[in-house]
Amino acid sequence: MKKQLGKKNDHLNLLCDVSNLANLLTRSADMDAFLQRVVEMVAVHLDADVCSIYMYDEDSLELVLKATKGLNPDSVGKIRMKPGEGIVGATHKKVMPICVGDVGNSPEFKYFKEAEEDRFTSFLAVPLQRGVESIGVISIQHEEKEYFNETDIIALRTVASQLASSVENARLLLSLHSVVEKRKSVSEQLQFVKGESASGGFAFAPSMVMKKRGGLLLLNQFLDENSGYNLSDFRRAVKKTGSQLQRIQNDFSTQLPESASLIFTAHFMILKDPGFVKKIESDIQHGTDPITAVRKIAGQYISLFTSNPHPYIAEKANDVEDLALRILKNFQRESPNEAELGKKKIIIAEKLFPSDILKLVTSDVKGIVLVGGGVTSHISILSRSLKIPLIIVEEMQMLQLQESTPILMDADLGNIYINPSKEVIEKFEKRNQLREDVKCNTIKMDSVTRTKDGIRVGLFANINLLTELSIAKQLKAEGVGLYRSEFPFLIRPTFPSETEQYLVYQHLFNEMRGKEITIRTLDVGGEKTLAYSDMAEEQNPELGMRSIRFSLKHKEVFENQLRAILRAGFESESLRIMFPMISSLDEFCEARQVIYDCMQQLSDKKLPYNRNPEIGMMIELPAVVELIEDFSKEADFFSIGTNDFIQYMLAVDRTNRMVSDYYCPFHPSILRSLSKVVKTARQCKVDISVCGEMTHDPAYLTFLLGIGIRKISVDPKFLYILQKRIQKIDIDDAEKHADQLLSEPSLQKIKTLIESTIGKIG
Ligand code: PEP
Ligand code: MG
Repeated sequence: MKKQLGKKNDHLNLLCDVSNLANLLTRSADMDAFLQRVVEMVAVHLDADVCSIYMYDEDSLELVLKATKGLNPDSVGKIRMKPGEGIVGATHKKVMPICVGDVGNSPEFKYFKEAEEDRFTSFLAVPLQRGVESIGVISIQHEEKEYFNETDIIALRTVASQLASSVENARLLLSLHSVVEKRKSVSEQLQFVKGESASGGFAFAPSMVMKKRGGLLLLNQFLDENSGYNLSDFRRAVKKTGSQLQRIQNDFSTQLPESASLIFTAHFMILKDPGFVKKIESDIQHGTDPITAVRKIAGQYISLFTSNPHPYIAEKANDVEDLALRILKNFQRESPNEAELGKKKIIIAEKLFPSDILKLVTSDVKGIVLVGGGVTSHISILSRSLKIPLIIVEEMQMLQLQESTPILMDADLGNIYINPSKEVIEKFEKRNQLREDVKCNTIKMDSVTRTKDGIRVGLFANINLLTELSIAKQLKAEGVGLYRSEFPFLIRPTFPSETEQYLVYQHLFNEMRGKEITIRTLDVGGEKTLAYSDMAEEQNPELGMRSIRFSLKHKEVFENQLRAILRAGFESESLRIMFPMISSLDEFCEARQVIYDCMQQLSDKKLPYNRNPEIGMMIELPAVVELIEDFSKEADFFSIGTNDFIQYMLAVDRTNRMVSDYYCPFHPSILRSLSKVVKTARQCKVDISVCGEMTHDPAYLTFLLGIGIRKISVDPKFLYILQKRIQKIDIDDAEKHADQLLSEPSLQKIKTLIESTIGKIG
């Protein structure tokens, strides 16, 4: 007899318990006990006679029974099957759930004598999936025929999705622990570090700790007092360094047009400074060994910079150190490329500026481990744009890792393996290959996105760097929903001029010709500090002189930018200019007036420009929710920036890991405010979209569609998966789901309700 559908509460309790258990596991890493508790709990909640977990063993290439409630406990570790063998093996191989009402009639069923399972007729098996592959199977069985229903399948899938990454972590942790011997060095103590993924991907490379040194730490490797080099060797090394930097820069400006060719400005300036090269030459002429002379003069520069109270000037000490290192290495005739900082390394750093990341990209850095920081910080966003895996960790010890320690980063999960074993490496390389294969499939996008019941949803791209345009086009983005115009500002050593910005925007319009493009005006301040600006140190930068406030205070910077946008968008039919962080109607009107003033200036100069831009704003501050109807009369469009909206509504710093548990997109006030904003905007016929990170999280997509969102802008790499998910959603169901969430005041209950829908869209 089929079970009644009224067991929902039990399922939901189960889901809560499993997530608690997963948290426990990450701390304890006692996998056997953990799995045993899971099977017992699932069996009780789903009213099953049996619950078992099978893990895939990559050595024997078999699925092995690891825990069971209901089967013979002695069969744990003994029951083994090949992928494809029996219902469990078939589930693993097909990577999809199999539900059988009567195993007697199932060709896939295979009876294992040791298990003593002959009484159980109903069988439901679900893969434990890690990305696209199955790492094991969880199954439930019952004596009655046709016992499991649709709700059980959803519940078991949700359990499986929560279990998979914990089980995977535990498995790797355990395999590491089994080979641990007590040794003293940091790399041996730290074998596995769990961090938070800020930019996905995989990397395996030697480590390099990038301390904000401001000293001569690295230069001290060159302690040879009698190197045998002479003045012409020095001149040759300087020349080689100059052309090396020039070459990297040229390569880089084609890769990243908005950085122009200025990332090594400080290096060039120092090379040209008579106090540097000439001083070293003079020392050499007076008998000092060339290597010592370089170290000495570089040392003086370094002390000069480090003693400067302005952090961004003190930072320059790193540039001097980098430059001196390059010169020293270039004394050797044979090693032209080794002089590149962080070449093919995984960088471990405590603090990085966006411009540091650019320099690292020029040396083909493989990954970054950031000690401290938060996943929605702009270093993270930049790393994603540049496709550099980035994991944020709290372990300060990482900064003491010995140079060139092999590190493996699984940045999809936030896992770091130090000195990984051969097995771990092979496993990840195989997985990486799978990821590459998936990437190749992503070009198979439909040009228009519709829900299951045919409702059109616009998919747009968030663009930070111009390089991302090509993938956005490949994935058929309908336009640019958010161009974060501050990136050219952040990655350069000075304010870009109007012309330089014009060239960047022109590139954007040329690449996306005919499509809607939304350029957000400068959104700096907060954690996006411009190293070169005289932005005062603020006690609470996130609440300070940032974003539109900065633009309105520095009108010349704002006008330069607006004129550059208007000119570059001259021929565009759908140019949209968007202001970030708007808090009041007056502020919006003041900013809009600056656009009108710029148009007048361009008219006066008889320069061509776009006379009809749409002017809109981001919804990022709770202050605008109550005024949304009034804003609807002024703004041409809205875009909801959920990253900041959540930060400000819940008073939780989006970059602070210590409070990340408080950063809850599913907080009832967030959900209700979003709903109110979208409803009002739609009633007033004002275009509204969402461009924060919430959009690509499967947990919230159904809700967002349910409250009426029909336009989404995301990092281009999420476009494909988002389209697939939208195609599985029915708007009627989404509306019901949204209503259900909106009526629920408890955080925990909302979380549980959300978790129960994720399984449906994957
Ligand atoms: C947001 O706040 O959600 C947003 C899209 O802007 P940013 O992440 O650049 O602050
Ligand atoms: Mg924002």
